[in-house]
Amino acid sequence: MAVSPSAARVAVLSFAFLLLNLHPISPATVGSDPDASPVKRLPARPGSPFKIALFADLHFGEDAWTDWGPRQDVNSVCVMSTVLDDEVPDFVVYLGDVITANNIMIANASLYWDQALSPTRSRGIPFASVFGNHDDAAFEWPLEWFSAPGIPPVHCAVANSSFSGDCSFSGTHRLQLMTNEIEQYALSYSSKGPKDLWPSISNYVLQISPMDNPLSPIAYLYFLDSGGGSYSEVLSNAQSEWFKTRSLEINPDSRVPELIFWHIPSKAYKKVAPWSGVPKPCVGSINKETVASQQAETGIMEILEKRPSVKAVFVGHNHGLDWCCPSKNLWLCYARHTGYGGYGDWARGARIIEINQHPFSIKSWIRMENHDVHSEVNLSS
Ligand SMILES: [Zn+2]
Repeated sequence: MAVSPSAARVAVLSFAFLLLNLHPISPATVGSDPDASPVKRLPARPGSPFKIALFADLHFGEDAWTDWGPRQDVNSVCVMSTVLDDEVPDFVVYLGDVITANNIMIANASLYWDQALSPTRSRGIPFASVFGNHDDAAFEWPLEWFSAPGIPPVHCAVANSSFSGDCSFSGTHRLQLMTNEIEQYALSYSSKGPKDLWPSISNYVLQISPMDNPLSPIAYLYFLDSGGGSYSEVLSNAQSEWFKTRSLEINPDSRVPELIFWHIPSKAYKKVAPWSGVPKPCVGSINKETVASQQAETGIMEILEKRPSVKAVFVGHNHGLDWCCPSKNLWLCYARHTGYGGYGDWARGARIIEINQHPFSIKSWIRMENHDVHSEVNLSS
């Protein structure tokens, strides 16, 4: 059974009315440099810890022409719903591979992107996203379709199209996916990033500030596009320089803690990866594969390591890893595979980050689909 675009569209539309009932939060902005893009401000409830849930590697839209694919997406919605109801986070980060675009044979993959956002949106929780290597990949025609059983009858599910034109399924560009998210949803805190960092798109910074004291930031969250899909898996020199300049500008004395989010681990993860199990000082529960790092590095880790305010980096990509390991003055952390799409059958869950102001601490743990909690770690020590 395949997901017809009309059925999927109905699912999206059914969420649209929920949106009408949500109070749109207009992100406040700060920043002194008139040429720089403003920093959106996330309000923290006075006296309460600020809690972030990371949804990594959801891989929506896989194999929609089978029974299996759509079932995985329903399962992924269940995982997210469970985590959101158990933890009630203040903010959600979609940490890349939101969709598996190389499996998506419709012209606009935003349809699946929207479905992945739906559990968070329907609860009125603000969110932001970064791109993974699968999000804007072009459709890969399965070789078995060209053997005896042939191509499934739903192969060209675009109205008034033929095998030429719309059925090339060339992927939905990063800019298109992000523009759709930002323009449709007031709860989205994502940005399209500075244009001079092209072709990477999800490069931006958010500031967490108490509602009653907006000029005293609690933390900065940096999001970087680690590439893959339509271009190389790399954090470019331009992105490294952007981070360096931007962080010096908005947090010159490194007084405010900084957390960093991207999808594909840097090579530094290979250096700290445990050989087997997750022995101390690392903290985690699965260590089932080798680190699949970026194709090239251009100095971002050296820049991060020189800033005492950078406390941790969070990545996805390796579905069989969920550890945090210390590396020099910061922590290198994996999220937890959240989606039923993508490879691997390890139990699904989500990494949670909790920032406390008084006394200051950054704690993290993993919340599982079966409600278990494990692998708590103090990232501010
Ligand atoms: Zn993935």
